[in-house]
Formats: sequence, structure tokens, C-alpha cells
Amino acid sequence: MNDSRVQASTQKLLELLEELGAYTASGPGVTRLLYTKEWRQAQIFLQQKMVGFGLKVTTDKVGNVYGRLCGRSPEEMVILTGSHIDTVVNGGKYDGAYGIAAAMVALQDLQMNYGQPKRTLEVVSFCEEEGSRFPIAYWGSGHVTERYDGSEAATCKDADGISLQAAMEEFSFLQGVTEGNGARNDIGAFVELHIEQGIILEKTDTQIGVVQGIVGQRRYMVKVSGAANHAGTTPMLMRQDALASAVEMLYVLEGAAKLAGEPLVATSGKLEVHPNTPNVIPGEVLFTLDIRHIEEDDLECFCAKLFSRYYEITAERGVTLEVTPVLHTLPAPMDTKLSTALENICRQQGKTYRTMVSGAGHDAQLFAPRCPTAMIFVPSRSGISHSPEEYTSPKQLAAGLEVLTAMLYELAY
Ligand SMILES: [Zn+2]
Repeated sequence: MNDSRVQASTQKLLELLEELGAYTASGPGVTRLLYTKEWRQAQIFLQQKMVGFGLKVTTDKVGNVYGRLCGRSPEEMVILTGSHIDTVVNGGKYDGAYGIAAAMVALQDLQMNYGQPKRTLEVVSFCEEEGSRFPIAYWGSGHVTERYDGSEAATCKDADGISLQAAMEEFSFLQGVTEGNGARNDIGAFVELHIEQGIILEKTDTQIGVVQGIVGQRRYMVKVSGAANHAGTTPMLMRQDALASAVEMLYVLEGAAKLAGEPLVATSGKLEVHPNTPNVIPGEVLFTLDIRHIEEDDLECFCAKLFSRYYEITAERGVTLEVTPVLHTLPAPMDTKLSTALENICRQQGKTYRTMVSGAGHDAQLFAPRCPTAMIFVPSRSGISHSPEEYTSPKQLAAGLEVLTAMLYELAY
């Protein structure tokens, strides 16, 4: 791409991001939760922009929005690119929105410079990914990939007791709703461009991250039960202290994770102590575990060893242990052919890049088991995301856009 073409595309991308960022419930940052007024306005804004960009607009029953650039060979599978329009509360204006805005600009640029593609290109704005309003994530891409069929909506409620079903009925209806439940079996490849939301690219002064895979995650709730008793009259050797036991377990967790090394990460982010009183020995402690790795076998092995050590601690201290699995997602490897193509594109464009693992979940992980899938990362300043402080410079955004555009050209032309 020559300089003036890159400049024109970058300008359009920055404008789109600014305009999208204005659809927020309140500040600071962007708050655009699923099926709220600002969410709906943002999706309608995108529909109008897509029409202006020469794309054919459709939507589905959950409110995913598509912009289609029809190919000369409609019998061939569609090349899909995009990301999610929802945000966390007081999030940034790049998470999700960047992948959609860049995809729209890329499609318009390709059409203007090369005309109609051979294979159909589509940009998608998924209705939801974050799980911020309802206790369910990937509601948008989950419909497209048949993880969900819609039956989940009746029982799933937000903090105000509004069901997902009711919220959807009120707000999902956009222009041009398509029939069916939103599932798609015509997707031949999915490419997602996203900010890194981590610090690796910035720390290593690298322009592009070529994602090799998205980690698998296991979450557990651990309950340690001991005996609540008087802090003054119970001798140290006659205690069943649930908190002291839990602390030893968390110490073991950190040590084992450091020993296992990258890319394994393990976190306990929430702890509840009962009765939580200064002069009472804690009788019960609940804590969470969040363990992630790119290899399912390593994850399995780490958890098995960890829990066997936990049961030893339990026996030594005379407390009891209850481990409840809360979440289990499999690692999602990206397509090696597409990743290699991305590396080649970076080399051709003279961009610095590195292959990396995504420690955060993304819509791409739902597509990975169904079709060749690729992810491109650009740096996040100080690694900050899910915050009004989220920032990626125009130059960095432009680099990602250029790589995405070349990838889509290779796939569709
Ligand atoms: Zn995101």
C-alpha cells in the first residue's frame, strides 16, 4: 500500500473509532453494555456507515451486524472479519471496536483499489463478547458458531433481574433482520484484529503480534472448612484454621505456577473468610482459582498436581476441602497456514512482529474449531485495557490495519 492510501485509510479508521467511542452510557471511558440504548445506537450507526462504505447490511436475531462485500464466486465460503461492539463498564474505545472499524475500512479500501473480490468478504460487529451485563460471554459469536441456540436467554438475568430474553426483545431488532437463529455454516475463514491488552508488544518494541493460539482456562471455587474457635483460648496445635490452610494453598499455587513457567498463569482473585472477625479463628474460607495455558495436557497435569498437594495440606491441618469446577474452556490454536501468511505479510511490509499466545479470551476462539482462524494484535500502551486509559497510537493502529488489509486481499482476491 502506498503512503497516501495508508494515510486515507488511517484517517477513516480514527474517525470511526472516535464516533463509535461517543456511544456510551457515561464516562469516563466507554460503557456500552449489551442491549442498552447506547449499544443499539452504536449498531445502527455501524449499519449506516456500512451502507455508506458500499456494503450490504444484514443482522440476525441476537443483533450481530454484518456488512457484506459480495464476491464473484458466491458458491465459495465467506471470509469473515470483525470483533465485538460491547464493552465492560468504563472500558476503552479500542477493545473490540478497533477490529470492527479496521475491518470496515479494509473492505472499502480493497473494493476501491481492486474492485469486486472473488470470494465474499464480510465484516461483523458481534453483539456481545465481554459478559459484562449478563453472566454469559460470547453471546454474539456463540450464536454464529452454534455454542448457543437462544434457549439460554430465558433464565439468564442481569443485576437488575432483567432477563436476557426480555432485553433482547426490547433492543436487538435492527434493520434487515435475517431469518433463522443466527448460526452460519458458510464461513470459510475468520480473521480478528484486536489490541493486545497486555504489555509484551510494547516491552519488546514490536508492531504486530501474530497469535498462535488462545489459552484454555480453568476456573474453580475452593472451599476450605475448619473449625471457628476462640482466638485466645485455642492453643496453636489444637486449631483447624481454614484461613491459614488457604494461605498455604495460595503460596503453593504461586510457587507451582512460577516453576511451571510461561505460558502458564495462575491467579486467585477472590477470597471470602468466615466469620471474618478479628478474634475468631476462621472456620471457613472460599477462594477462586483461574489457571490458563495454551496446552490442554499441561493444564490438566498442573491442576492434578496442585489438587493432590492441596489434599496433603488438608490432611496435615485437619481441615476439609471441596473443589468445584466453574469454567473449563479448551485452548484454541489458530490456523498455522494463516499465521504463516501473516508472518510473511509482516516481513513484506517491513513490520516488526512476534508470534505469541493470547492469555485473554476472544471471539476468534469460537471460530477456531470450525474454520481456519487467525488473530492479529497491536500494542496496548502500558498493557492497559478494560480502562478509560486504554490507548494505541494512530501509527500502531495503522500498522495493524495494513496487515489485516493484506491478509483479506490474499484470502479473497
Ligand atoms: Zn475484546
